Amino acid sequence: MPTMEYEAVIGLEVHAQLLTESKIFCGCSTKFGAAPNHNTCPVCTGLPGVLPVLNRRVVEFALRAALATHCHIAPLSRWARKNYFYPDLPKGYQISMYELPIAHHGYIDLTVAGCPKRVGLTRIHMEEDAGKNIHDAHGDASLVDLNRAGVPLLEIVSEPDMRNAEEAGAYLRSLRAILQYIDVCDGNMEEGSLRCDANVSVRPRGSSTFGTKVEVKNLNSFRAVEKAIQYEIQRQSEALNAGGQIVQETRLWDSEREVTRSMRSKEFAHDYRYFPDPDLLPVVVETDWVNEVQASLPELPTERQKRLIEHYGLPAYNAEVLTARKDVADYYEAAVRAYSTDPKSLSNWVMDSVLRVVKGEKLDTSPRIADWPCPPEHLGTLVRLINEGAISGKIAKTIFEEMRVSGKAPEVIIAEKRIVQVSDESLLAAQVDEILAANPDKVADYRAGREKLLQFFVGQVMRATQGKANPQMLNALLKTKLAEKN
Ligand SMILES: [Zn+2]
Repeated sequence: MPTMEYEAVIGLEVHAQLLTESKIFCGCSTKFGAAPNHNTCPVCTGLPGVLPVLNRRVVEFALRAALATHCHIAPLSRWARKNYFYPDLPKGYQISMYELPIAHHGYIDLTVAGCPKRVGLTRIHMEEDAGKNIHDAHGDASLVDLNRAGVPLLEIVSEPDMRNAEEAGAYLRSLRAILQYIDVCDGNMEEGSLRCDANVSVRPRGSSTFGTKVEVKNLNSFRAVEKAIQYEIQRQSEALNAGGQIVQETRLWDSEREVTRSMRSKEFAHDYRYFPDPDLLPVVVETDWVNEVQASLPELPTERQKRLIEHYGLPAYNAEVLTARKDVADYYEAAVRAYSTDPKSLSNWVMDSVLRVVKGEKLDTSPRIADWPCPPEHLGTLVRLINEGAISGKIAKTIFEEMRVSGKAPEVIIAEKRIVQVSDESLLAAQVDEILAANPDKVADYRAGREKLLQFFVGQVMRATQGKANPQMLNALLKTKLAEKN
């Protein structure tokens, strides 16, 4: 049987935990890390006789997210009860939105592999989070912590517009960046403040009908999202090519073994028996409020990207990397404020040195730039010192490492370590003569036309001077001396 070529159809459902101080329907704190059941009250523990009161901030955050993703705002939306039984859900239902969400029909514009791509948003709605079950390691007991019950969430549902894992990854990164820029969610997937489920199906290339979709859960990193989608596309295509059928079901991603596993079939899925919540009034959003929120929106990632390219002359790639996260872009621009002469070199330093440390040491889980390797001002000074010829790029790398450890300013480190660049021409000339005398073969080769050997001589002198030779002066000296006897 000839194998058919399949095309994937992917949609993502994202849950974003909102950065409000208090919960969605009561005054309890949303702070993470409190003692179990410390941040609770009769409302969020679902005691009888209490009534929920909507936190206005949650609606404002939903509006911010909706406007930043070009959604239509519903003038009237309605709360619904989603009924199911689980120990972490004390009321026996979750307050969510169903047939009338607060926002719908938006989109996010992406660039994937250099090509523009628009992904539609079906809807955005508000809902409350559930608590957390903690299972005893010995299996004797399960405990329930309701600190998270009632923490506000946004559910953001995309259209099935993505065709491969790369597009899904780009969409999720872009959505996270937007939510971070507008300060509604910290975007931390590892800690669960941004959660993603993927709906994946395949169909014969060229077909316009949808195949049977599978929902993949437990995706707690960007890598997991992309890997799981790739796995599903392959699994489903192979199954169909072997004459099998796809079952509509929920599957869990196993990040250890890098496979998805069947969790439950949709035939047995819950019937949530949604119905309008009688305890809460519909949410009515007036145009004035929408306009006010619109006016308060900050510069968004794509706009900032454009500005960095136009303003600082950065390559598109650099601008993309730097604006993917607001804190990184803020750090970069603070460094440019400290030394505005060379924004391009600063962008490379942030991307190569700062982000390497930030990612390697997982400092990016902290929203505080103050916890990063060095203050942006120090990075500005470091690049200035290189450009002024006070230190070489190589020495600068050493100083950067020292800045990380001690937190000291580059000038202080230079003074303490007595790092002085050798700019004394006669001293340097003596070193050059020594190196040339020690490598007669290479000198001959160079003179015979192998001009690439210049780098070899530069390296040798740098080594002899422990990297302290002034690079411009050294290059000039070497070229003159190598040309002399020609
Ligand atoms: Zn409460």
